[in-house]
Amino acid sequence: MQEKTLVKIQNLFVEYRTNKGVLGGESIIHAVNGVSLDIYKGEILAIAGESGCGKSTLAKAIIKLEPAKSGQIFFNGKDALSLNKKDLKDFRKHAQMVFQNPYASLNPKMKIIDILKEPLEINTDYSQEKIIEIVKEKIKLVGLDENCLELFPHEFSGGQRQRIAIARALVLNPEFILADEPVSALDVSIQAQVINLLKELKEKYNLTFVLITHDMSVIEYLADRVAIMYLGEIVESGKTSEIFSAPLHPYTKALLSSVPQINKSGRKIILKGDLPSPANLPQGCKFHTRCPYVMEKCKNCIPDEKGISHKVKCFLYE
Ligand code: SF4
Repeated sequence: MQEKTLVKIQNLFVEYRTNKGVLGGESIIHAVNGVSLDIYKGEILAIAGESGCGKSTLAKAIIKLEPAKSGQIFFNGKDALSLNKKDLKDFRKHAQMVFQNPYASLNPKMKIIDILKEPLEINTDYSQEKIIEIVKEKIKLVGLDENCLELFPHEFSGGQRQRIAIARALVLNPEFILADEPVSALDVSIQAQVINLLKELKEKYNLTFVLITHDMSVIEYLADRVAIMYLGEIVESGKTSEIFSAPLHPYTKALLSSVPQINKSGRKIILKGDLPSPANLPQGCKFHTRCPYVMEKCKNCIPDEKGISHKVKCFLYE
């Protein structure tokens, strides 16, 4: 069956400037460098890579929390980068985000009921009666009792707060949710509950999720497809089962070799050096400074993306 594309990203670049501190001047951080990616309706697409690879910036750019330098994003066929005020308001209803840290993402001074009412009051003209009905429905949907609506965030555990953050993302009935490391700030014992909740919501309501994570075991359990990101580029993408059983890109192989549950052979690939600074990107293939298979041409030339459903950007597959 042909998948329907909900979000189409074409050649997207995002950069921002940082202060060099005591040395003065500015550096340009090249956070996202020419990403093209389709996100299919009803799937969970994971974007994975080390910290600093640009995955969170890409997520924020998709949802318009970070401006793009160039490129295009289409949401349901509509150009999401040139929306007028009214269309932007509509877009916000359809696309929501769940942040990494439920301790920081919920206003400690607001009761849960007010936190959940707020997006409805800003984005709809529903009556208070209808708003409260929706709030009660969503809090139950994430497995919490409506009695908790009168409490404040500090009265909940980390897992419960993340459920509240998910309920807040759901109140506007979005089609698309971007979850940035949604379980990494939680105790291991409650991570599975939140992961299962996301899986259940996707299956019941045909929601589309983009899951930003560095945790390959979470991806293997939850994601339909995965895109591996390195220094602001997608270096490999495809169905999770294919990427995990037959990874092609040397960086993907190294990432997977570091997860004991996935790496049955026990042979770990240790990469040389640290992730280069996105303020000073290497020439040629951006992975060449750490790649165990580097060839002379990798240092100067950029490999094209090859493949149809399983895509890879590496000269070893030309
Ligand atoms: Fe390694 Fe060259 Fe492939 Fe880059 S293009 S991943 S340096 S082999």
